[in-house]
Amino acid sequence: MEESLAKQCKRAQGELAMLYEIGNAMHTTLNLEEILYIILTAVTSHAGLSFNRAMLFLVKKNENRLEGKMGIGPDSGEEANTIWSHIERHKMGFEELIETHSKFEHLKKSKLNRIVKSIKIPIEEQSGIIAITAKEGVPFIVNTEEKKRKAKNEFLTLLDLDEFVTVPLKARDRVIGVILADNRFTKKAITENDVRMLTMFANQAGLAIENSRLYERTVVLSNSDSLTGLWHHGYFQYLLGEEIKKASSRKESFTLLLIDIDNFKDFNDSYGHQAGDSILIQISNIFREVSRKIDIIARYGGEEFTIILPYTRKEEALVLAERLRKSVEKNEDLKGLTISIGVATFPEDAEEKELLISKADTALYEAKRTGKNKVCT
Ligand code: GH3
Ligand code: MG
Ligand code: MG
Repeated sequence: MEESLAKQCKRAQGELAMLYEIGNAMHTTLNLEEILYIILTAVTSHAGLSFNRAMLFLVKKNENRLEGKMGIGPDSGEEANTIWSHIERHKMGFEELIETHSKFEHLKKSKLNRIVKSIKIPIEEQSGIIAITAKEGVPFIVNTEEKKRKAKNEFLTLLDLDEFVTVPLKARDRVIGVILADNRFTKKAITENDVRMLTMFANQAGLAIENSRLYERTVVLSNSDSLTGLWHHGYFQYLLGEEIKKASSRKESFTLLLIDIDNFKDFNDSYGHQAGDSILIQISNIFREVSRKIDIIARYGGEEFTIILPYTRKEEALVLAERLRKSVEKNEDLKGLTISIGVATFPEDAEEKELLISKADTALYEAKRTGKNKVCT
């Protein structure tokens, strides 16, 4: 039977209010993780679009594929019941849901989230419905036996999907990702109206994601050194301060390396300043390759660099420093140039920023004084 006009109006009013509330929530942060979390909470919360589960994939442009970023929803029917009755009992609205879970703690334990994050889908016809949603930029609803049979593929099996809907995430007419949602536990049928709401919402969400990425890129660029692409001095000072805070609250050590190229003035005098600049770039790349993903590398000044080694005690740091020194020494493109490294460890050498840098500087001076091309503490 057709809905009465009054009923339709009432529903549209409710929908608008919800989209408005979600939109506001998305504007409270520019952090991408937080935005993804707000989006998926909106898709799954009772005060939102009330799907059982939601998953989000983003397009990795250069590699022409989708990467799973986050999945929200219970891992079992039992868990679903516990969560939903809790929400029901406490009459939790959308904002409260975001607040309570804002620490992402439960995401770390979620099996669904882990699976989603492991998925990489080439954007090609034969990769199935999620890829086709990104390729064609239109939503799909898989809700009949025939569609289910046709859609069946490895990714859907991995995610334990039966009946579901996919919608593209768009930003300025470009597809930047896909949201997938289902009602795995309640088995509630997905309606055309659900798809319509989800599509409207996805357009809002796509823009929020794009803004946050632009912002994050701006932050990176404005804190980087233009020659080497490493963090610049000012940002290094900030990051070192942050590292000290983190390490002291966790009662952990970390180590600071201060690195200076040996006799670089002579190199410039013989080969010219441009050749010198190219050396600075090559040495930066060596630092990137040899260090670990968690290490923070910065250009401290002219031909001086620093590396913050989180969670690293002196003995391990010395191993890494020695590896850096050797990599430079044996690199034939560097025309025999070498580096000296001063090492200082938090908290044993110093607990305070300026003092820690000064300790590393003293160690570096010692390395220079006693013959260069060496690591000193
Ligand atoms: P030492 O072994 O004692 O470190 O000798 P050094 O010649 O390297 O002395 P110092 O570290 O004081 O010299 C810094 C030199 O590095 C001065 C300058 O010629 C060169 N330099 C500093 N910044 C740049 C840069 O951005 N590009 C180039 N090409 N050279 C730079
Ligand atoms: Mg110097
Ligand atoms: Mg030097």
